[in-house]
Amino acid sequence: MSTLKEGTADVGIAREEPKGWRDVPTGGLITEAGNAMEYETGDWRTFRPVWHKDRCIQCLFCWVYCPDSAVEVRDGKVVGIDYKHCKGCGICANECPPKVRAIKMELESEAAGEGAAGNEGGGKDNA
Ligand code: SF4
Ligand code: SF4
Repeated sequence: MSTLKEGTADVGIAREEPKGWRDVPTGGLITEAGNAMEYETGDWRTFRPVWHKDRCIQCLFCWVYCPDSAVEVRDGKVVGIDYKHCKGCGICANECPPKVRAIKMELESEAAGEGAAGNEGGGKDNA
């Protein structure tokens, strides 16, 4: 059962009541596999990767190295960034070949809205 805790800001994500220590599995193990999609980690990003389609050579290095599987690929091609799960670590931009530099990191506050526009094919934004 998901309930908003009293005084918790409603940001569109239902927050469950904190579990008591007796409810937590031994060792803090995650016993339900495949639940990463439920946890949106993009809201604490400081920098966002902005993908430039016109510069991209589709080498897929960014997709291979992204630790959060936040580079969206369709039919073998990058189509954008999933901003709901991108943490803004910058690895994709770092791995993008220097000759093309198709991903640039921008301050989230300055790039708001712009990155979503650069997402070909509907990369998900958290706005
Ligand atoms: S900034 Fe990090 S988390 Fe976001 S798409 Fe790039 S590699 Fe993935
Ligand atoms: S690493 Fe750069 S050039 Fe390669 S697919 Fe990703 S954005 Fe495109």
